[in-house]
Amino acid sequence: MACFPWRVFWIIQALVDVTLSQEIYAPHSIRIEGDLTLGGLFPVHARGVSGEPCGDIKKENGIHRLEAMLYALDQINSDDELLPNITLGARVLDTCSRDTYALEQSLTFVQALIQKDTSDVRCTNGEPPVFVKPEKVIGVIGASASSVSIMVANILRLFQIPQISYASTAPELSDDRRYDFFSRVVPPDSFQAQAMVDIVKLMRWNYVSTVASEGSYGEKGVEAFMQISREAGGICIAQSLKIPHDHKQADFDKIIRQLLETRHARAVIIFAYDEDIRGILNASKRADQVGHFLWIGSDSWGAKNSPIQGLEDAAVGAVTILPKRATIADFDSYERQERIGTDSRYEQEGKVQFVIDAVYAMAHALHNMQKDLCPDQSGICGEMEHAGGKKLLKYIRSVSFNGESTEAHNIR
Ligand code: GLU
Repeated sequence: MACFPWRVFWIIQALVDVTLSQEIYAPHSIRIEGDLTLGGLFPVHARGVSGEPCGDIKKENGIHRLEAMLYALDQINSDDELLPNITLGARVLDTCSRDTYALEQSLTFVQALIQKDTSDVRCTNGEPPVFVKPEKVIGVIGASASSVSIMVANILRLFQIPQISYASTAPELSDDRRYDFFSRVVPPDSFQAQAMVDIVKLMRWNYVSTVASEGSYGEKGVEAFMQISREAGGICIAQSLKIPHDHKQADFDKIIRQLLETRHARAVIIFAYDEDIRGILNASKRADQVGHFLWIGSDSWGAKNSPIQGLEDAAVGAVTILPKRATIADFDSYERQERIGTDSRYEQEGKVQFVIDAVYAMAHALHNMQKDLCPDQSGICGEMEHAGGKKLLKYIRSVSFNGESTEAHNIR
């Protein structure tokens, strides 16, 4: 996107210089009024460098997906059949693609559930202070990166707030004892690891290397690939390399140098985040090895431009995986109305559909819960008001609806 939609400017504005009332609870957030509030977690910024928590804007992972949540809320709120007489609002936060930052931000979601004893707090004039009560967040949509979802899931479960991710695929999130309030609308990585093994076998690449970003997603993804390839037989792993969390350019150069030590393993399975993919592709260019490697990328590469922009030559021939999705034409026209320029390049990010599905899953669960708990009554009744997250979770787990891909959705 060369030009941003005006709303993107508004979002950036909202995220950067915040209004005073928001400042109290969440320094970087967007608030949309409603009868019920959903939390949202999106990597609007990349992780920052040299001590800064946040870096550059992430258009695809951040802006497209955030817009997708706002789009889904608009659709649901204008639907007379789904949640009639109930408006869904939101509190959307930026994770800055960093688990620790996201954890701090997510405290906002649990504020309303923490009882504070302020009886002995007095202003300088002796008056008791007036506290603005934060809204109660009943469920959270997000996050993107598995490491962020894992971190946030740990706090949300303590407060029994259900969470639905639209992108986190790490297998460990399927552990229902540790992540009991976590659900997702994307398949766990064992499926894409299987797809990668199938591709490797079909192409008869029997000698491959693997590269992973440090952390749950990359390392566990590669582990799944290795296990499935062992079971399938006929695939030898030349090397398994890891991109360290706090990396420098030299780390990428070293990885390329190491990969070249086993020159015949030209096919490389890469389970890494966009910035790391860029680092690797850049290093392959510096080493004058464009065209040598055959990249097999995971869903974090998927159909995105960001990992390869300006590095297209180094990525030629790459095969990348993405959960089966449909492009949402309506979302494109929604975006277009909002856009200031018509000459900008825009291509819908691959997980927009899943963000929409996640919001709809929450809405359908709330709808069913309202029907059961408030029979013959419209809007939110007392029973629903006090039902709690455990009850909502039950409805989320049993929800079934036709998602944007027109296939019935069952939430894990
Ligand atoms: N599947 C990746 C993860 O679990 C995220 C990929 C994306 O955000 O597109 O960390």
